Amino acid sequence: MMSPFSLNKLPLLGFVVVMVVLPILPTPEFWITLANYIGLYAIVALGLVLLTGVGGLTSFGQAAFVGLGAYATAYLSTQFGLLPWLGLLAGLCVTTLAALAIGAITMRLSGHYLPLGTIAWALSLYFLFGNLEFLGKYDGLNGIPALNLVGVELDSGRKMFYLIWAILLVALIGLQNLLNSRSGRAIRALNGGAVMAEAMGVNTTWIKVLIFVLAALLASVSGWLYAHLQRSVSPTPFGLNAGIEYLFMAVVGGAGYVWGAILGSALLTLLKDQLQSLLPKLLGANGNFETIVFGILMLLLLQRARDGLWPYLSLFLRRWMPSKPTALAPQSATPLAIRARHADADVVLEIERARKEFGGLVAVNDMSFSVRAGQIVGLIGPNGAGKSTMFNLVTGVLPLTSGSIKFRAQSELQQISGLPSRQIVARGIARTFQHVRLMSSMTVLENVAIGAHLRAHRDDVSDIARSLLRLNRSEEQTLLFEAKKQLERVGLGHLLYEEAGSLALGQQRILEIARALCCDPTLLLLDEPAAGLRYQEKLALADLLRKLKAEGMSILLVEHDMDFVMNLTDHLVVMEFGSKIAQGLPAEIQQDPAVLEAYLGGIDE
Ligand code: ADP
Ligand code: MG
Repeated sequence: MMSPFSLNKLPLLGFVVVMVVLPILPTPEFWITLANYIGLYAIVALGLVLLTGVGGLTSFGQAAFVGLGAYATAYLSTQFGLLPWLGLLAGLCVTTLAALAIGAITMRLSGHYLPLGTIAWALSLYFLFGNLEFLGKYDGLNGIPALNLVGVELDSGRKMFYLIWAILLVALIGLQNLLNSRSGRAIRALNGGAVMAEAMGVNTTWIKVLIFVLAALLASVSGWLYAHLQRSVSPTPFGLNAGIEYLFMAVVGGAGYVWGAILGSALLTLLKDQLQSLLPKLLGANGNFETIVFGILMLLLLQRARDGLWPYLSLFLRRWMPSKPTALAPQSATPLAIRARHADADVVLEIERARKEFGGLVAVNDMSFSVRAGQIVGLIGPNGAGKSTMFNLVTGVLPLTSGSIKFRAQSELQQISGLPSRQIVARGIARTFQHVRLMSSMTVLENVAIGAHLRAHRDDVSDIARSLLRLNRSEEQTLLFEAKKQLERVGLGHLLYEEAGSLALGQQRILEIARALCCDPTLLLLDEPAAGLRYQEKLALADLLRKLKAEGMSILLVEHDMDFVMNLTDHLVVMEFGSKIAQGLPAEIQQDPAVLEAYLGGIDE
């Protein structure tokens, strides 16, 4: 199986060799120019791979950031004679500020509002470039100096070629490093739903703004290169049309793959060039007919190959080069610190009159119960009783309508209602989901490693820099080793490098338990963990839960299999229509008339 983000050494080397000899050979100027543009576009498209393909955030506005980078250096170098390299720095600063400001507003938007927001800023920036006197209005700025690289004047396309492709290569490797790190797994988890990522401690707002800024910075660098290649700038290449074309490139190549960015920009640039000369001849008239062909191709692609063309090419490449997974667990590593367990019989979780209303429906009706350290408490009740909603209240996925939930984080009980999920998991409550939430194209190991998100370096810019530069190796080893350890603990040690999506549903549930254990919880919330398991697997799961309990773990469990629940739990809480109808020892509950009524619809009839 090939990770979408693996850069195999061999094709990478081949790629570099081709790129090094291309300008040395008597390649016609025309091809060099095309290759330069492909490189420039690919840098922008690479940002879209990160933002759209991996992060799931669609942007039509990347061209505007290309414009920011281009105009910043154009203005400063022509008006103030500033060195282009300082122009780059200025462009990156302006872009960061603009992306932070725009990102802070638009990243909160969801669904189709986000693409609409990106269209709005693309249009505004375009008209800004075109209407500002000091930027030369729609005529733009001319006389931009050539770049000077350690004494060499890069005053021709042939000379710029190496710089463009070297920057692209560095961006490619950096992005691949980032995606295969702790932060990268958090970015990839975005696409699987923010609820899961937040429940593992990922600050999804920070991650979204981060990838937005990174994608904008790549666009800005491309703009800077463009300005010094072209030596003049005007607003047209930075408009909405260009923004759409960048998105096309990423999608055609394969927005979920780093190589897709290069493939897409190459295909569309070459195709556009061919069509521009061919179509007017065929049709006997002048016009931008290629846009029509692009439109049709796009529709076909969305019908036939949504993941773009890279997967097909990689299938072909794989015949010669079987690839190995990028994230490999080491044989040994420094173990991670473990949270102190609670003293026996302490109340760990205390729920008081918790209430959740959805409009007129009272899904959880003033529920009160508690979980003690080292106990396995079962929460049972018919479908729709409100058990999963109760879990969502405890883990901060849903806000309470009223009531309170307290958790013993260290020595005393603290209010956790009102906290976001990621702060609740940080205090030691980890969960699984009734409907499994995992990243099906990631390996089992990588999925579980997401659970260890909070057990390493904190989210900040230096962490990202270390990941980009691959200075995070020892931390990575620690996290992957922990993930492997938890997978072996739950009995999935033989499936580390399988695609999570290829596992049977029962195994996927167990995977979620390993992921939750990676959070180093003191309280584990399991929502129907035995559903879909075979008999033997259920026995193994019960053994595992008993072992966890013996180690001091507290467990709250929702489960329908009564044999499983009765043999395992210390205490049962029974819900029906949102309310608690009984609680006590399993043996007592089995005899409780109200419970029998709820389950069997009455015992007298
Ligand atoms: P259980 O897990 O016990 O089967 P749930 O907690 O999933 O039950 O659901 C309890 C009730 O709340 C059901 O009637 C369900 O339709 C409703 N419900 C759950 N989540 C939502 C939601 N997000 N919005 C509206 N209604 C919901
Ligand atoms: Mg449920």
